[in-house]
Parts: sequence; C-alpha cells; structure tokens
Amino acid sequence: MYTARKSVARSATAIKSIKSVADVKNTEKTTTYIRLSDASDHYRDKHIDDKKGWAETLASTLERTSHTKAAARVRDCANVLFFGLHCDEKTGELKHKLRSAPFCHNRHCPLCNWRRAMKNKATILSAMPALLNEYKTARFIFLTLTVKNCELSELRRNLHDMNKGWQRLIKRKDWPALGWIRTTEITRGKDGTAHPHFHCLLMVKSSYFKSGQYIKTTEWVKKWREALRLSYEPVCHVCSIKSKDGTKDALASAVAEVVKYATTTEDMTKGGAAWLEEYINQVYKLRFIASGGVLKSILKDVRKGEDEDLVHVDESGEENGEEQDTIVYSWNKKVIRKNGKAGAYVRPRC
Ligand SMILES: [Zn+2]
Repeated sequence: MYTARKSVARSATAIKSIKSVADVKNTEKTTTYIRLSDASDHYRDKHIDDKKGWAETLASTLERTSHTKAAARVRDCANVLFFGLHCDEKTGELKHKLRSAPFCHNRHCPLCNWRRAMKNKATILSAMPALLNEYKTARFIFLTLTVKNCELSELRRNLHDMNKGWQRLIKRKDWPALGWIRTTEITRGKDGTAHPHFHCLLMVKSSYFKSGQYIKTTEWVKKWREALRLSYEPVCHVCSIKSKDGTKDALASAVAEVVKYATTTEDMTKGGAAWLEEYINQVYKLRFIASGGVLKSILKDVRKGEDEDLVHVDESGEENGEEQDTIVYSWNKKVIRKNGKAGAYVRPRC
C-alpha cells in the first residue's frame, strides 16, 4: 500500500503540468499512472471519481462549520480502494471487484450515500421475486407528495408535520397500497428556502387500475391536503410503473429514484457554510427512509445502520471466477478526469 502511494505521488509530480483533457490524452502513454475509470468497465467504477469529488466539495464546506471532525472524516472517505481482480470465466477478462475501502459512513457523505443507495436498491429488488410470487397481480405506482417551500429554520417542524400527515393518509379507508417504501428528499430553493417532499413507491392490487378505484393526481392532492390539514393545494405527482415486459427495468428505475439521496451535495453546499450548518441541525437524527404494509420488513437490514457494509453493494452478488490478485487505487486530487474535473482514483503503471 505504501509503495503504491509513493508511486502515485510520483505520478502526481509527473503530471503537474497537465491542464486539460487534451493534455491528458496526449500524455496518457507516458504517464506513470492508470486511472480506475480507464481500467475497469463497471459503471460503478466509472462514477466513483465524481462521487469522491463531491465528497471533497462537502468536506471543504463542512470545514467552515462547527462540524470539523465530520469534515475530516468525509475528506478521508475512501482515500484508497482495494480491489480483487477476477478472471471472467466466459471471456477470460480480468474484472475489478471492490474488496475493502475506508468509507466514512457520514450520513451526508455523497460517496457513502451513493453506495447506500445502491445497496438499498439491491436489497429491495432482491426481495421482490418472493413478494411478487405471493402477490401475483401486484402493481407499483410512484407517488411524489410535496409541500410549499419553507424557511430552513422551519424544516424540522415541517418534516414533523409531513410525517403526521403521512400517518393520517395511510390510515384512511381509501388508502390503496398493500405496501409502501417512502423516502424524504429536500431540495434547496434559489432563495435559500427548503423544499421537502416524499418519494413513495406503492405496491397496489391490479384492481387499483380498474375504473372507480384509480386515484387521479387531483384526488391525491385532495387527500394529501386533508391529511396535512393545509389551507392550500399541495403539488402531487403520480405515475404507474409499467407492467408486462418493462416491469423489471421500470421497477428498478423507480426503486433507484426512491432510494437515491436526501439532498444533493450541490444543494447542501451552494448556500455556503451557514446554510449547511443549519441544514445539518434541522435534520439531525431524522430518518429519511421508511416502509410499511407488506413491504415493512424489506428494509430491516437498512435500519440496522451501524453494521452497514458499503463495500459489497452488488445487485447480483455474483463472483466472476476465481480471485487472481489484489490491486490498490489511491485518490489523487491532481489527476484530471475525462470530464475535465480534478481528482481521480489511480494506481501506478507497472
Ligand atoms: Zn463517506
């Protein structure tokens, strides 16, 4: 590991003069490093540089808040990645598979949240075949429930009210779902206000789509307004997840949308340190993912929290043949990515 770090440091020195993507292309053959995004064809390894880049952005803003310990942890999140190389039995190609990495596990870290989202998606999708075997005619709808923007200082109270409203909504006689998964997302308005909303995946009987039972958007607005006891009409959006051939992909996309994140790093940081400090205080210890009905137990592993494994987040869980070797990639802030941004995971070129 130390040898690899020294080599990477030497690589960094060698590329000090690199200024642009074109320069990278021109010097690729002569550089002494190999980028993970070039060496691995897995989509996760193509995106991890960007997530680590956002973690750097978050750490920089956190450093200007009172959360300096968290800033240090996020800054150091996954500075090195240990991969196993597996020989694909079909093609003979060597494939990367993450074996370990020192993830920081901070709830706001974009790198850890990205891994969490993948893991949650995999957990939910892996439970679906058994559920759909039991509830053969079940279908899914994707429901978004919003309220008006509020001052950031009022966010916690608003989220509390939304949770109470949700409890009233699911206790209504006309609540259509057999089971549900609900996440909370907060976006930042241009004026610095907060826009909290719920993303909900509802599992319904197929009869829901028959006339008389289907709930149109305007009816959801009425129900959500009543449940929240609002004086205005809140914005709601509902769409069905197509069945037949598209079920698997459409469901996977909907699950990915539900579990993606609470707040983007861009939104968390563009208001500066003061906004971030207040945001962290407002959402302190609030749980942003919940499930109920026949989907209640689907997130039991997610709720364990402390034991979360952010390394093994594979959707398939399949191993590609026998492990051949271990290889270490280190984060280097000076290497330029293909998108022109600074920072990439690299290993020394042998
Ligand atoms: Zn992290």
